Formats: sequence, C-alpha cells, structure tokens
Amino acid sequence: MTGDMTSVVTALAPGCALLGLVFGSFANVLVHRLPRGESIVHPGSHCPACGHRLAWFENIPLLSWLALGGRCRACRARISARYPLLELGLGLVWGWLGWRFGWTPELVRALALSFWLWTLTWIDLETGLLPDALTLSGVALGVGLALWMGDWRASLIGAAAGYGVFWLVARLFLLVTGREGMGYGDFKLLAMLGAFLGWQALPFIIFLASASGAVIGALWLWATRESARAPIPFGPFLAAAGMVWLLWGRELLDWYLDSAGMGGA
Ligand SMILES: [Zn+2]
Repeated sequence: MTGDMTSVVTALAPGCALLGLVFGSFANVLVHRLPRGESIVHPGSHCPACGHRLAWFENIPLLSWLALGGRCRACRARISARYPLLELGLGLVWGWLGWRFGWTPELVRALALSFWLWTLTWIDLETGLLPDALTLSGVALGVGLALWMGDWRASLIGAAAGYGVFWLVARLFLLVTGREGMGYGDFKLLAMLGAFLGWQALPFIIFLASASGAVIGALWLWATRESARAPIPFGPFLAAAGMVWLLWGRELLDWYLDSAGMGGA
C-alpha cells in the first residue's frame, strides 16, 4: 500500500465518525417529528418547550448540548440526553463501520442500513411504531443499492421472504392465540433487512432477534412486574440482530457451513 492510500484509510474511520454525528443529528429530527406527522424540513430546529429557533452554534452535534449544559439557551428547559446519546451512538457505529469495511461499496450499504436501523430503533422504543416512511424507503434503498452492487436477486427475494415469513407467523399466532403478536411494522422492518442483507441473513436474524427478545423480555417483565401482555417493541431486537449479521455475517455463515460440512463428512 502506498503512503497516500494508508493515510486515506486511516482518515476514513474518524471521517465516518464525524459524519455519523451529523447524520445522528438528522436522525434526532426524524425521531422527534416522524411519529408526530411533522415536516422534517420546516420549521428549522427549535426548542420543543419554548419554540426558540436554534442558531447554528446551538445546533452542533454533541458539542452544543454539552456547552449549554443540556438546557435551552432561551428558556433553560432541560433538553433530553437522548439527543447527544443518539448522535454519539451513530458516530461510534459509523466510525467502526469505516474501520471495518474500508473504502468499499459495502461501506455505503453499511452506513445507510445502520442509519435507518438506529432511527427506527429509537422511534420504536419511544412510540412502539415503525413508520412506513422509514421501513418502506429502506426496502427501496436496500434493493436500489443491491442493483448497483450486483446482488439484486438475493435482495428482492430477501425483501419478499422477510415480509412473507413474519406475515405467516403472525397469522398462525393469531389463529392459535386469538391475539396479535407482532405489528405490520415488524414485517416491513424484516423486509428491509432482507433487502439490504439478502435472504441468506433472514434465518439468523429471526433466530437471534427472537432469542434475545425472549430473554430480555422475560427479564424486563420480572424486573417491572408488568402483565405478560404489556407489549415490548420487537423492532430494536431485529435491528440489533441485523447489525450483528452486517458486521460478522460472512464469518458466521462460513463457520456454520464448515461445521455442517465436517459433520456430514
Ligand atoms: Zn426553550
């Protein structure tokens, strides 16, 4: 590798991390406004308590919140720690993805998918909803990127199978128990994961999301003593399983096929 190439690669991870902070700031706007049906461009960023319009220096990811001590400059209302945490989280993830994938088309797919998953996770945690504006645009973007990268068949099959599998499970669940176990948003989120990652990712994602959801759900119910029917959002578990596959899917598949091959021989 030439000196120039090395410096490009070493600059890539911090560059992705900084860009992640900026996109994290945009994710905050989506998390706040999409479930309320507000426009995502107008009006500009403002304090939810007093409507004070933010000047550019009050709108710098992470730094402004820290500099202002987590309060609005005009009315001194507390500004939720969700804002800087969401920005910092995406910055860290994007920095990691830049380091992991390097300067490749795969990096573009990884950054896009993680942005969509991160935004959907927070909306699902706060409202229990997965807005179509995000899941369906994510399906379209996943298929579009796959067309560009040449694996569109796996992507289209993944989108259709993702939706279909959960639809079928939900029908059976309804038939057996007489109640809804999953929302249509979850079907669309799995379709989106299939579109981005290909159908090969789906069995792993469904398994990991269900297993981790069952364990954490049980702990949550035990800790809070809520009724077993209190809905726990499934979207964050699907999103986390999708990220695990994104980062280590190829290794997991190779490892599985190797063990299966050894077992058969
Ligand atoms: Zn204010």
